[in-house]
Amino acid sequence: MRINSFSDVSLRLLMVLGSTPEDELATTRELAEAVGTPYNHVSKAVLKLRQMGLVEAIRGRSGGVRISPEGRRATVGGVLRVLDDHSDVAECQTNMGACPLIHDCGLRGVLNHAREAFYSSLDSVTIYGLAGKTQEGPVSVTLSTVRPA
Ligand code: SF4
Repeated sequence: MRINSFSDVSLRLLMVLGSTPEDELATTRELAEAVGTPYNHVSKAVLKLRQMGLVEAIRGRSGGVRISPEGRRATVGGVLRVLDDHSDVAECQTNMGACPLIHDCGLRGVLNHAREAFYSSLDSVTIYGLAGKTQEGPVSVTLSTVRPA
């Protein structure tokens, strides 16, 4: 199971903001550096997280963003359900077009069911405070260092 780059960056941002003291604001540029991702990608992710109510933006000269109370309660599973692209786990394409088994394939449904189980296993894992902690629980998630295209 693999999460997309946008979800990955968004989770990284929430982890960084979750480990930042409550009275400190971070600029998008600082966040871009902290998560090792280009400014433009981080800017889009911050906007989406604001729309989801997970971060708050404070305007002004010394403004910046911080995690919101809702963001402190957000779970990995909850965020992935919104941000992941939900494409089928298997592409079901061959060099000659659609897989010939596609009309009578039980595997496809089972794989998609497994993806739902993956999200469910992360529904109880809050992102807040995950940075720097050893992953616990049945599913190990490795955050990619690949930058989004
Ligand atoms: S066997 Fe099933 S899951 Fe695999 S590519 Fe074909 S249709 Fe998709």
